[in-house]
Parts: sequence; C-alpha cells; structure tokens
Amino acid sequence: MRVDLLTLYCLAVGTLLLSTAMTLWECPARPKRSREMMVLAGGYFALAMGCALATTRDSLPGALGAALSNVTMLGGYLLILHGVAVLDKRSHRRASIGLLALSVVAWAVGGAMWQVQFWNYLSALPIALVSAATAWEMARNRALRTMRARPIVIAVAGVHALFYLGRSFALPAFASVYGIEAVTLAGKVTMYEGVLYSVGLPMALLALVREEAHAQLLEASQTDYLTGLGNRRWFFEQGEAVLLNTRGGALLAFDLDHFKAINDRHGHATGDQVLRHFSRVVRKAAGPDAIVARLGGEEFAAVLPGHDRKSASLIGDAVVRGLAAVLVHDAQGEPVSATVSIGVAELGSDGLELSSLLSAADRALYLAKARGRNRIEFAPPLVCAAA
Ligand code: GH3
Ligand code: MG
Ligand code: MG
Repeated sequence: MRVDLLTLYCLAVGTLLLSTAMTLWECPARPKRSREMMVLAGGYFALAMGCALATTRDSLPGALGAALSNVTMLGGYLLILHGVAVLDKRSHRRASIGLLALSVVAWAVGGAMWQVQFWNYLSALPIALVSAATAWEMARNRALRTMRARPIVIAVAGVHALFYLGRSFALPAFASVYGIEAVTLAGKVTMYEGVLYSVGLPMALLALVREEAHAQLLEASQTDYLTGLGNRRWFFEQGEAVLLNTRGGALLAFDLDHFKAINDRHGHATGDQVLRHFSRVVRKAAGPDAIVARLGGEEFAAVLPGHDRKSASLIGDAVVRGLAAVLVHDAQGEPVSATVSIGVAELGSDGLELSSLLSAADRALYLAKARGRNRIEFAPPLVCAAA
C-alpha cells in the first residue's frame, strides 16, 4: 500500500479536529480542569490549522505559506506545553512567546533564502524542544504521579521530540548521502508518527483528567468532610490491610465526653471546632504509621501497627493531655474544655479481625465511661477473649 503525504496531512487534520471537539466536550464534565482542557483544545486546533496550511503552502508567495504553517504548528505545540504545565500550576509563557517570536524572525530573515532547509530541517528543532519540554513537564508533575495515563503522555510527547530531533540533525546527513529520496521518506515517516501523536496525546490527556477526577471522587468517598481524617469505610479498608501486614498492634477507640453538653452550651459550630481540634491532636499523637479515622459523630479510632498495650497507652495519654491544653474558644471567647474516654485493645500474635479488635476496644471504652470518663481502660487479652 502506498500512502502519500497529502493523505497523511488530511488524516492529521481530521484527528486533530476530532481531538479538539472531544476535549472541549469534556470541559463541562471536569470543571476543575476546564482551563487546561481549553488550552489543550486550542493547541490541537492550531496544529490542525498548521497541517491544513502545510498542504496549501505553495499557493502563497515565497516562503509565506511554509512560514505561516510552521509558526502556527509551533504555536499549537506551545499551547499543548502550556496546558500540560498548568496541570501542575506552572507556566512557560515568556519563554514560549520568546520562542514563537524567534521563529517568526528567523522565517522573516532567512525564510526566502533557505526555505527548503528551514522547512525540511531547522523548523523541526523548536518542535522537538517544545515536545521534550511537554514530556518533562508531565514527568515532573507530582500531583498526577499515580495516574496510569501519565507515562503514556510522557512516551508520546518524548517519542515525538525524538522524531523531530532526528529530522533536524540526522536528516541533513542522510539527505547528503541518499539525496531527495531520504527527505521524502522522512517526511512521510514523521507525518505518519504525527498522525499517531495527534490521536495518542489527546486520548492520553483525556484519560489522565478522567482518572484524576475518579481519584478525587474516591478520596472524597473515603474522607470525613469535617475533620479531613479517613471515614469509617476507609478505616476498615486500611486497617484490615495494615493488620494483615504487621506483627502485633493495638487499637484505640475514642469517644468525647459529654459532647452533647458542649454543643448545647457553646453551639454546634464550636462543637465542630472541638472535633477538628481533637482530630489534629490524635493525628499528631498517633504518628505517621497510624490509621486514624472518624468513625462517626464524636467517635474516633486509631490502629497502631507494631504497638503493644504499653506504647498504645502512652499515645492515649498524649491525646488526653493534648485535648486538655485548651485551644478552642467559642463565639463569645469562652474557652471550651473537652475530655475524652479511651478504650485500648491489643492484637494477639495469632491475629484477629479488625471488627473484633474494635468491639473489644469499644467494650473497654464503655468501661472508661462507666468509671467516670476522661480515662483509659484496657480490653482483656484478645486471643483468649476470642477463644
Ligand atoms: P458520653 O460522654 O456518654 O459519650 O456523652 P455524649 O454527650 O458525648 O454522647 P451522646 O451520644 O449522647 O451525644 C453525642 C453528641 O455528638 C450528639 C450529637 O449532637 C453530637 N454530634 C455528632 N456529630 C456531630 C458533629 O458533626 N458536629 C457536632 N457539633 N456535634 C455532633
Ligand atoms: Mg458516642
Ligand atoms: Mg460521647
């Protein structure tokens, strides 16, 4: 099968226009990324226009057609770079405008004299640089590092950069040995790769934005809105996983004392503030390895992997002390004092399900309530209890 260059250009224009439309269509569904998507869509559209101009460049006088086509394409690549950079709140606006201006000046000064050299080799260099920068921007993006589509974006932009680098540096050498045939073949090969790029990059970026939205929804479904801690569902998922991979551990169950009275006396908003304050106290005292969650209302729990009853009770003491150091004031400026009751259950070496561990810690917690609140009580050894 023989494919001519014009067919490849037409294909690229079609796929780029489709990519533009699909990206714009996605904007309302991802409002948080609509700005980036509009910029990317603008980039695809500019590339489509650049390709369309390339097919008719000989109908314009001198090097005007080639220059217009090349500068429009470069603008498209720069918009794509900008869209990818903005995904991580970065921008290359000045450098981009500088590169575009340099390209215009180069065409204006040398385009007429060296049109063939500019079109075949030199004009590929800024495209290679901008595509490499796009791949680099995606590679350094920390916020999207867990997304599966990210390496695809890096690969597509990186391969594109390599093709254009080859066009600007290796092709002149091949052309000097094999003549115009090499240039014609290189033109088809780069354009074929360009068609793949015009499908692959927009698809990967769309997948990335969808994946990100999905991850945000998942996180929201596992997070307690008021305190930012994990919620009950997250606690059971994470807690089970941690207990499976650890030898020994303890669970602390917390329940704020007379919390209803705090709400009644200081107002619900102040009660919320106490809950947020308490969550920070527990998070700090429990350490980075702990699974800390708000189970509901004024009830919290922490799984402490690798801890025994003694070290868990030290953490419980730290929580009691941290809560006693009053930091919350109500709307009238009155300090709000709150206390907490804590139940501790230790995981035996035989292991136990998280739900049994939590029930045991809850029983100890009720004992703490019955014995006057603002204290820590321990569950009996759990393996025996389970037996
Ligand atoms: P005890 O010492 O026996 O635990 O008494 P308590 O008052 O803490 O327990 P109770 O279960 O009677 O009341 C819990 C209160 O927690 C009732 C509810 O209004 C309040 N509460 C639950 N969720 C929230 C919340 O998100 N914000 C606020 N401000 N209060 C909440
Ligand atoms: Mg309660
Ligand atoms: Mg309570």
